Amino acid sequence: AKERGKNTFQFYTAELNVRAIERLKLEYALRRALAQDEFELWYQPKVSLATGAPVGAEALLRWRHPELGMVSPAQFIPIAEESALIGAIGEWVLATACRDTRRWVAEGLFAGRMAVNLSGRQLKLGGLVDTVRAALADSGLESDYLELEVTESVAMDDADGGQVGMLDELRALGVQLSIDDFGTGYSSLAYLKRLPVQVLKIDRSFIADLSHDKDDAAITTAIVSIAKSLGLAVVAEGVEEVAQRDFLAALGCDAAQGYLFGKPMPAAHFEAYLAAQRR
Ligand code: C2E
Ligand code: CA
Ligand code: CA
Ligand code: CA
Repeated sequence: AKERGKNTFQFYTAELNVRAIERLKLEYALRRALAQDEFELWYQPKVSLATGAPVGAEALLRWRHPELGMVSPAQFIPIAEESALIGAIGEWVLATACRDTRRWVAEGLFAGRMAVNLSGRQLKLGGLVDTVRAALADSGLESDYLELEVTESVAMDDADGGQVGMLDELRALGVQLSIDDFGTGYSSLAYLKRLPVQVLKIDRSFIADLSHDKDDAAITTAIVSIAKSLGLAVVAEGVEEVAQRDFLAALGCDAAQGYLFGKPMPAAHFEAYLAAQRR
């Protein structure tokens, strides 16, 4: 048993080392990705449920790795967050989204809002308000074209007392704030009322089985009702089926995003999509 314990320990240590090395490699690769322009922003439309017209879009980060191909943000954002690289990556995302959006606005293609995701670590790093201000100023984009999405847990986490203040400062710039993945975290409704947010985004996990699962339908109905009574707009994410769209439209949900309306697409494709929608 002793022998076995030892082996288990050695195995465990080796596994930890492998993971640490993998992490260092990934961190190094992320640094290189920034320096060598391997990141891309893809754009996914949000449409009005009343009219079907585009009301904005969400910018989603992609990493085109020279050997691995496209790497999902779900795989590398957590590593970037642990290493403070998220600061530099977040700056690149904000600058790129503002620049692309400004161009589409100038060409008469884009109206509504471009949403950019912020991670919790990014809010805690400091300097975020200046970064957003600079991205707007450098691109010439007016602030009411920009929306920032923060997850429920991030928005509610006010342990250091600074978070709400920072959201207030961002709001004062004229950008819109939305709560992402709503319904998956713990929120106090009293607290929600105090946050300077304008939009709730219903998490995809509730939308997936909307047409078959009574609980998901009840939760979605409740979220739309909460949003309405607080005077907030509500957007559903991950809409893939007509039945989901119809259910949400009947509830009075304002807008939706999902494969039914358009997948995330590279900037050039999104521009073509916008041009086609105008006709
Ligand atoms: P999220 O903010 O909840 O983004 C929505 C995710 O759902 C995206 O995954 C999108 O491609 C996917 N999606 C949209 N419609 C559908 C649908 O109809 N069906 C299905 N199955 N999926 C759909 P993606 O692009 O892989 O991004 C994953 C997560 O990575 C995002 O979740 C967000 O948390 C994070 N992320 C993406 N870009 C950024 C970024 O620039 N900064 C930060 N901090 N996080 C980002
Ligand atoms: Ca989001
Ligand atoms: Ca989301
Ligand atoms: Ca989500």
